[in-house]
Amino acid sequence: MSMNKASLECRHISLSYGSTPVLRDINLKIEPGEFFALLGPSGSGKSTLLRLIAGFNQHQSGELLIDGQDISGVPPHARHIGMVFQNYALWPHMTVWDNVAFGLVERRESRDAIRRKVGAALELVGLADYAKRRPGQLSGGQQQRVALARTIVIEPKLLLLDEPLSNLDKNLRVQMRDELKNLQRTLGLTTIFVTHDQEEAMTTADRMAVLDQGVLQQVGTAAGLYDYPDNRFVAGFVGTANLLEGELKMAPDGALQFHARGLGPLTLARPDAAPTLGAATLALRPHQVSIADPQQAGDAARLWLDGQVESAEFLGEFSRYRVRVGELALLSDQPHYAGVPLFSAGAPVRLGIDPRQLRVLTS
Ligand code: ADP
Repeated sequence: MSMNKASLECRHISLSYGSTPVLRDINLKIEPGEFFALLGPSGSGKSTLLRLIAGFNQHQSGELLIDGQDISGVPPHARHIGMVFQNYALWPHMTVWDNVAFGLVERRESRDAIRRKVGAALELVGLADYAKRRPGQLSGGQQQRVALARTIVIEPKLLLLDEPLSNLDKNLRVQMRDELKNLQRTLGLTTIFVTHDQEEAMTTADRMAVLDQGVLQQVGTAAGLYDYPDNRFVAGFVGTANLLEGELKMAPDGALQFHARGLGPLTLARPDAAPTLGAATLALRPHQVSIADPQQAGDAARLWLDGQVESAEFLGEFSRYRVRVGELALLSDQPHYAGVPLFSAGAPVRLGIDPRQLRVLTS
């Protein structure tokens, strides 16, 4: 099956329902062949944006371009975009074969072409032996594959998936995640999917856009967003973060210091660019906070804070400690090994922080 590789661009797209803004000045460019996630909490505007790309929602301002052409006024069926709905929307009374053939029949393709294309699509999703079944006789994962086959068979320019994994149980979700990724690689089709699950976005997407309250917060790769979040929202939504409120100050000797509220000053690594001094948030990942016995000599390259364990959660691969340091509570995740004793609630400890892993956020 030959697939187009289209690019998609949103330029200053805004959409309101009545007087309620739902998408605010969205600027986004998705490259040909990318597997791209729209990630955000419920109500952030992800589905609205996806439906807008499909043509089911109309933006009040801005431009929507496929391969540089504005398609804002083009009706959904003329956009050559394939969309897989969350509930798959299969025809229950039709066989798998007829479900997949439906779009081609509507387009009045020849019987030969239909036979060839439907066969290839079912082969691609691993359902060649299921052609005569009806959707009700298939598992959730198989139904989803039928929905995918039905969409890719029309050779769309762009594939849109609305929460593609949310209707599957946990084990199947991980399996389908891999299948979806492989299928997308095979086809090379520009694909945009919506999810509220950061793990899902991080494990599948080449890049993702994080949305909150209709505002695009940041676009990047999973590691890029995780390591260098632009703001508090992204730091807290992509992965887990300790977020400390405080102030960024320059010490008399020129060192950059973060004065966390309820804690002494922390000397930071030298930044690449001139920092904005003043109110800020310090973000650090729980697994980057080491925990040690207070008597143990600590690595001098780290910042050390005295604290007391408030609670300990054993999670198998690691333990998550909540440690009281002054007025703050910090999370520290430690990898677990048999024979290494855990710290218990009430134990005095020292927390070690690598200053290079600290991120100062000003918004
Ligand atoms: P998400 O997909 O991120 O959960 P949605 O795009 O579905 O978010 O919704 C974004 C916001 O727009 C929500 O506050 C929702 O209540 C509102 N909304 C969605 N559809 C409509 C509609 N047809 N009319 C009015 N408000 C809507």
